[in-house]
Amino acid sequence: MKSFLRVVTLWSASIFTLQAQITDPKATEVWTPAPRIVTPGEGTQAPSDAIVLFDGKQLDEWLSAKDSSAAKWEISDGAMTVKPGTGDMITKRNFSDFQLHLEFATPEIVKGEGQGRGNSGIFLQNRYEVQVLDCYQNRTYSNGQTGAIYKQSIPLVNACRKPGAWQTYEILYTAPRFNQDGILLTPAYVTVLHNGILIQNHVAIKGTTEYIGLPKNEAHGKGALKLQDHGDLVRYRNIWVREL
Ligand code: MG
Repeated sequence: MKSFLRVVTLWSASIFTLQAQITDPKATEVWTPAPRIVTPGEGTQAPSDAIVLFDGKQLDEWLSAKDSSAAKWEISDGAMTVKPGTGDMITKRNFSDFQLHLEFATPEIVKGEGQGRGNSGIFLQNRYEVQVLDCYQNRTYSNGQTGAIYKQSIPLVNACRKPGAWQTYEILYTAPRFNQDGILLTPAYVTVLHNGILIQNHVAIKGTTEYIGLPKNEAHGKGALKLQDHGDLVRYRNIWVREL
């Protein structure tokens, strides 16, 4: 204990000495590296370094998840709508760490309740679902409501707009890291803002977001983004991603 205290004392003293030696404010300025320049988008435009995954006109970046055939959801008025029965849609590209922006609207004509009202979802790396649901005056289990990491993490608040209104998600995602033996070293982390409101704050993802049963952790590399066909006419627009 004594030697530990001595080390701490010496360390504090040396920091203090160093601190006393620095009198020039420039001595603590760091100039390299310089952050590269990214031009922010005007209005709904994506930032200059973003990959636009859906611009309201075509589905070139997407495939049908079940058989990799051409994406089948319908486009109208600058939005794509889930085409029930055609299955999930998946990006052609794979991602690791990213910032994702997307906008969604649950059906204006309300039908169903609980999980049956405006259900869709965004699967990060094709595995981890951020729930899309109409939870405006619609209760369901809390870890399955809008913005939940499905069956793992309850959103901090319910920030839903009315059915039919456009809503935004900003999703910041850090992929999990596995060692060469496939053992999890660090979990995936996710932060979600719903309509600009923080609902998931650097949450550790426990594994796959299962409907039944516990999360599974299987080693993986980069993964696609997947949008869920849950049978409801949920619309999406203005989807872009920045790889980090
Ligand atoms: Mg869902």
